[in-house]
Amino acid sequence: MEPAKYIEIEQQLGAHNYKPLDVVLNRGQGVWVWDVADNRYLDCLSAYSAVNQGHCHPKIVQAMIDQAQRLTLTSRAFRNDQLALLYRELCDLTRSHKVLPMNSGAEAVETAIKTVRKWGYQVKGVPEGHAEIIVCDGNFHGRTITIVSFSTDEGARKGFGPFTPGFKVVPYGDADALAAAMTPHTVALLVEPIQGEAGVVIPPAGYLQKARELCTAHNVVLILDEIQTGLGRTGKLLAEAHEGIEADLTLVGKALSGGLYPVSAVLSNTEVMSVLQPGEHGSTFGGNPLACAVARTALKVLVEEGMIENAAEMGAYFKQGLAAIQADTVKEVRGRGLMLAIEFHPEAGGARQYCQRLKEQGLLCKETHENTIRFAPPLIITREQVDWAIERISAVIGAG
Ligand SMILES: *Cc1c(COP(=O)(O)O)cnc(C)c1O
Repeated sequence: MEPAKYIEIEQQLGAHNYKPLDVVLNRGQGVWVWDVADNRYLDCLSAYSAVNQGHCHPKIVQAMIDQAQRLTLTSRAFRNDQLALLYRELCDLTRSHKVLPMNSGAEAVETAIKTVRKWGYQVKGVPEGHAEIIVCDGNFHGRTITIVSFSTDEGARKGFGPFTPGFKVVPYGDADALAAAMTPHTVALLVEPIQGEAGVVIPPAGYLQKARELCTAHNVVLILDEIQTGLGRTGKLLAEAHEGIEADLTLVGKALSGGLYPVSAVLSNTEVMSVLQPGEHGSTFGGNPLACAVARTALKVLVEEGMIENAAEMGAYFKQGLAAIQADTVKEVRGRGLMLAIEFHPEAGGARQYCQRLKEQGLLCKETHENTIRFAPPLIITREQVDWAIERISAVIGAG
C-alpha cells in the first residue's frame, strides 16, 4: 500500500487526537527505523523516551517471546513467578522499599495521587476531603481527567471539565513560591525533575534539593515523576541523582519495558505505600508475568550494556554539537544526558518546519509546543551516529 493511503485511512477512520509527521514506519532496529518505502531514519524521539534501549532490542524481544509462550496473564487474584523477581530487581536497582506495578504512566501518576491522599488522612492527620497536592506550572503528567485537572496547558484541559479539586499550582523552579504554598493540608509535591513535554525545562541548580528539604520539614511526600527523565535518559539511572536527593515516591514507566509493552510502577522509599489495603487499588494487567519478564530484561540490558553511562557521554557530545551550530534563529540549546532541545526564537516561524526538513534528511524529531525541538535518541547511540545527526541538523537549522 502507498504511504499516502495509510495516511488517508487514518485521517478517515481515526480520532484526530495526534498530529503526526507523515511518515509511515514498519520496522525498527537500534537507533534506526524504516518507513514503508524503505527509507531509513535516525529516531531522535524514542517514542517520548520509551525506547531508551533501542528499537526491538534482541534480548528484550526474546524475553517477551519466551514469556508469551509460557504465561501472559494471571491477574492479581493469583501470584505469578515473575512479579517477585521484578520487585526485587527494581528495589535493588533504585534502592526502593516497595513497588506498585501498573501499565501506563498516567496510571502510575493516578496511583501516587490516591496513595498520598490516603496517607495524608491516615498518617499525617489531614481532615478527610481536604488533602492538597502541589504541582508545577508547565507540568505534564498524563491525560486522565484528574491529571488534566491540574495541567496549565489550555489545549490539554479546555472542554474537559468539571475537574478534580485538591491541586495547587506553583511556578516551576521557584523554591520560595513552593515554600509559600505549603499548608498543614499539603500531602505531596508532584514534580518532574526536568519538564519534558514543556520543552526540556531544567530547573535552577539546587531547586530539587530545596524542594526535598521543604517536603521533609513540612511532612509532605515528594513525588518525582521520572516517567520520562528516568531509566538513564539524563545520564543517571534517575534524574534525582543529579541533585543527590531521594524522592519518597518515584514514578517510572515508558522505558521500563524498552518500548515493547506498557509497564509503569510507583516506587516507594517510605512507608507511604503501606496505607493501601486489599481492594483499594489495582489493575487487571498491572504486574502481569509478560510485563514483568519484559521489564526485568529491559532493566538488565540498560545496566549491563552501559546505556546510562553512554547517555551521559553521548549526551554531552551531542549537546556540544548542537551548541556549535551557528544560526540567528536559535534562542537556546539545553538538556542533560540525551534529553536535549533547541529552542527557536518565535520569529523563526515555529519548530515544525524544521522537523519536516529533518525528516527529509533522515532524522525523526518532534516539536514540543511551538518553538522547541527535542532530541532524545535511544541511549545506545554511537559517536559516529551523533556526528551523522549533527551534520544533518546543522545543514537544516544552520541554513534557516
Ligand atoms: C509520558 C509521561 C507521562 C504519561 O505516561 P503515559 O504512559 O503516556 O500515560 C507522565 N509523566 C511524564 C513526565 C511523561 O513524560
